[in-house]
Amino acid sequence: MTQTDLLIIGQGMAGTLLSYELMRKGISVFVMDKKNENNTSLVASAVIHPLVGKNWTVAKDAEHIIPIALETYKSIGEFLDADLVRQKSILIFYKDKLAATNFKQQKANGHPYLEVACAYQEAHWNAPLGVGEVSPVYTVDAQNLLDKWRAYLQTRNAYVEDVFQFEDLKIVNDKVQYKDIVADKIVFCEGAIGRYNPYFSALSFTHNRGDALLLSVPQLSSEHIYHKDFRLVPHRNNLFWCGSNYIWEYDSLAPNIEWRTHIEKELRTWLKLPFEIVNHWVAERPTTAGQQSYLLQNQEHKNVYFFNGLGTRGFSAGPSLAKEMSSFINK
Ligand SMILES: Cc1cc2nc3c(=O)[nH]c(=O)nc-3n(C[C@H](O)[C@H](O)[C@H](O)COP(=O)(O)OP(=O)(O)OC[C@H]3O[C@@H](n4cnc5c(N)ncnc54)[C@H](O)[C@@H]3O)c2cc1C
Repeated sequence: MTQTDLLIIGQGMAGTLLSYELMRKGISVFVMDKKNENNTSLVASAVIHPLVGKNWTVAKDAEHIIPIALETYKSIGEFLDADLVRQKSILIFYKDKLAATNFKQQKANGHPYLEVACAYQEAHWNAPLGVGEVSPVYTVDAQNLLDKWRAYLQTRNAYVEDVFQFEDLKIVNDKVQYKDIVADKIVFCEGAIGRYNPYFSALSFTHNRGDALLLSVPQLSSEHIYHKDFRLVPHRNNLFWCGSNYIWEYDSLAPNIEWRTHIEKELRTWLKLPFEIVNHWVAERPTTAGQQSYLLQNQEHKNVYFFNGLGTRGFSAGPSLAKEMSSFINK
């Protein structure tokens, strides 16, 4: 029998950040994950930035969530001896005159994150309307974070790779039991698939999928993120993440070939360097109506919790939400 304070289902960003916060408080956790190399947290571009929407609007909570995110990734990085977060800037290639005017106007009005673009390799791009810059932003090495955190949990005998089945869960008074694991509480961190969780079935999830490409662009500098209608984001192994789209109605997670063809065509007019597509991923974002995150306790079974709805901002807002969730569970 394994005895633990908390059983956590899912080791994407939600399960990773929450288990880290709980362990920081001296609470024992046991994490179960079905280990999917295409899970949303690994398909994401993993950018932390302060803006929302298309008009350079600063997120209302940016001043709160970004310092917490940076402190959290720094502290997990030190704990795991891993370099998890890098400061970057986003070079904004104006797609039309209106975008250029809007950017310059906001900069003139004192927008704190917009800059006139720094020096960059102009010979590598077609940029007839000019370039602006958003700074600072950050990228997280999600693969390294998830792999190293899993390896750490394994050294503590606190991780199992398995598919959680609801019919095997027993809730008896103040304990939950799943096969040979006995815990005081269980927290579901299943990402988008959480919309089917029978303990939290009345929630307003929306369906949203995104495609992303992995590109090899050997001559491109990884100092910046490059943005036009889509983004190129420095990724691991000198590759670039490229995406994404937002599809709200779909019946499969098959790669969208039409989108890839469109991106390839756009890239050839924007980027003057040779590139090669080395992968095409698809994942679902855990989006909800009203973009609300779910930090919930089941009303009938008080030891059953739900941490979900990280939406499009799991890397930016995830750390502060995980802190909130950890306090909620322990109150
Ligand atoms: C294309 C794309 C780009 C993105 N870019 C960004 C970005 O730049 N910045 C940002 O902040 N956010 C971004 N996001 C959003 C971000 O990825 C999500 O908010 C975040 O990853 C969600 O994390 P999660 O842990 O809730 O879900 P997931 O990453 O999906 O993790 C859930 C985990 O639960 C496991 N699981 C589920 N069911 C079971 C079960 N029954 N048994 C065992 N394990 C189970 C899954 O295998 C998975 O590992 C992006 C998303 C996409 C799709």
